[in-house]
Amino acid sequence: MVSSEAAPLAKTGGLADVVGALPAALRGCGDDVAVIIPRYGSIDLKGARRVYDRVPIHFGPARYDVSIYQAAEEFPLYLVDCPPLYDRKGFYGESGIDYPDNHIRFAVLARAALAAARFLFAPRIFHCHDWQAGLVPAYLRTTFATDPTFVDVKTLFTVHNLGYQGLFPKTALADIALDSGVYRPDGMEFFGRVSLIKGGIAFADALNTVSPAYAREIQTPEYGFGLDGALRARGDVLTGILNGVDYREWSPDVDPLIPANYSADDLSGKRVCKERLVGEFGLPREAMDRPLVGIVSRFTRQKGTDLIAAAAAGLVAEDLYIVALGTGDPEYEEFFRRMAAEYPGRIAALIGFDNGLAHRIEAGADMFLMPSRYEPCGLNQIYSLRYGTVPVVRSTGGLDDTIEEGTGFKFAEYSGEALLAAVRVAVRAYADQELWHAMMRRGMQKDFSWRSSACAYSALYRRLAGGA
Ligand code: ADP
Repeated sequence: MVSSEAAPLAKTGGLADVVGALPAALRGCGDDVAVIIPRYGSIDLKGARRVYDRVPIHFGPARYDVSIYQAAEEFPLYLVDCPPLYDRKGFYGESGIDYPDNHIRFAVLARAALAAARFLFAPRIFHCHDWQAGLVPAYLRTTFATDPTFVDVKTLFTVHNLGYQGLFPKTALADIALDSGVYRPDGMEFFGRVSLIKGGIAFADALNTVSPAYAREIQTPEYGFGLDGALRARGDVLTGILNGVDYREWSPDVDPLIPANYSADDLSGKRVCKERLVGEFGLPREAMDRPLVGIVSRFTRQKGTDLIAAAAAGLVAEDLYIVALGTGDPEYEEFFRRMAAEYPGRIAALIGFDNGLAHRIEAGADMFLMPSRYEPCGLNQIYSLRYGTVPVVRSTGGLDDTIEEGTGFKFAEYSGEALLAAVRVAVRAYADQELWHAMMRRGMQKDFSWRSSACAYSALYRRLAGGA
């Protein structure tokens, strides 16, 4: 697997969770997996051993020397060390601005992955995640098309989020020594620029995305970000496989990060969690008898932050309380700061990234709000099910695939009114605590563990490797 993130070493979102958990689950299906990611400055090499020393990677006259380390993990996790490229404050950029040499940074990752495949771990499949790994299929189809090492090696490209495409000026091709023949609309050209995600879409042997609904949606103009045509052209090899979640990390009966453990059989600990959360956010005691709505999210356009702002007054009028945790675009962070200032003691927001608090919100809230504009899979709504925190979601992508009547509440139209209407239904349901507890328990019993998702990937690998 070639990826820009893998939990716990490097994480900004769901991609890292997937790459961190899927390899171990695949081992249960009989597959050996190695993962390769950049060694960012924040990754400590203590405990890692150097397995490959100073591999030179040439792009025309430019040369990048990389070393590869193997981290102490339950599967081979290779870290590509090249301090001038990766030893920086951010993974992709700083202060909201992408690094201008990201094409070079992820071209070096791709080439290091090919080098690792020659000498460290010979794969039958390159499983490439998102645009940062899109150059692997592109190089294999061009520069390395006749390389005997790779003739039988197949590629799978997984789209975790079509909204991030890796777009660069045409001159980027020369910087990364990629054959200019790829610069065509059915290759990697995208409206006058080079698109690294199209390296995966055009050149991988198979494609998938992280839920069946999202696999359908991205082939439509509404959700296709201009790539729906390219995706429809590959529709015969494009499938959807729902992400699993890691219940060793996200389960209220064993979670060490929450104030009290609980289970479907004994929910008493959940009230303790709510009490602490109400206290932590400085909400009044009355919140204990009213619905407490939790939000953990990247505050971006994708996540429907604007809908929450549009519905804020109506939500507060329902006599409920909101606790929110997130970081993201300054504009959307500001929405939450403003809402908290306007409704003190009702809406409380913490702008930041805090894994422990994400767990405490999942455990302490009664409802979880996720009104995404689009959602490839989404993890938080699945965690919420397990924590008995009833999800209220917009019925799109993975949200639609994982939440059903009886475990949560859905709305379709992308509007503040539709969100509010769904929350009102949820608040009415909450009033009947016996029914509400039955709903919580139904959600808690759902199983979205990696086992079945990993087996779906394993079957896909086997089909690919077998040439079927
Ligand atoms: P996405 O990958 O689009 O951000 P997902 O729901 O698939 O959305 O995954 C989000 C992951 O990141 C979850 O594990 C969630 O708990 C975590 N997360 C998101 N924002 C924060 C935050 N501000 N603090 C802590 N964890 C966060």
